[in-house]
Amino acid sequence: MCIPPFFRELVMGPADLQRFRKLLLEKRRELLSAQGEARALVPAAGGWEGDVIDQANADAEAELQIQLHRTDGPLARAIEEALARIRRGTYGVCEACGHPISKVRLNAVPWTRFCRQCKEQQATSRR
Ligand SMILES: [Zn+2]
Repeated sequence: MCIPPFFRELVMGPADLQRFRKLLLEKRRELLSAQGEARALVPAAGGWEGDVIDQANADAEAELQIQLHRTDGPLARAIEEALARIRRGTYGVCEACGHPISKVRLNAVPWTRFCRQCKEQQATSRR
């Protein structure tokens, strides 16, 4: 089967999917290990034997959880969704217009759901 070069540039091949999957998994591991390190700094919560509740620690922990949620939440979710799209075979297709997302864009932002045009339209329509 002969695939024209311009077509190959747009459509995902198995090798491309494998590569983007690896990128996403690496990024996810990065996020998870950052979270793991932050959690390791929080002292383990005392059991029933503790008479004194360390309110300062509890507050610090709650604040840390909020920060983790804020910084990593949406990105981690976007990565999960991108991995799910790879499994479903819909990865690399813009959710707004249905056109393939350029590989250059996917290389920069592998978890993106929109092509550059749609992303820009969304940005301008919000103003
Ligand atoms: Zn689009």
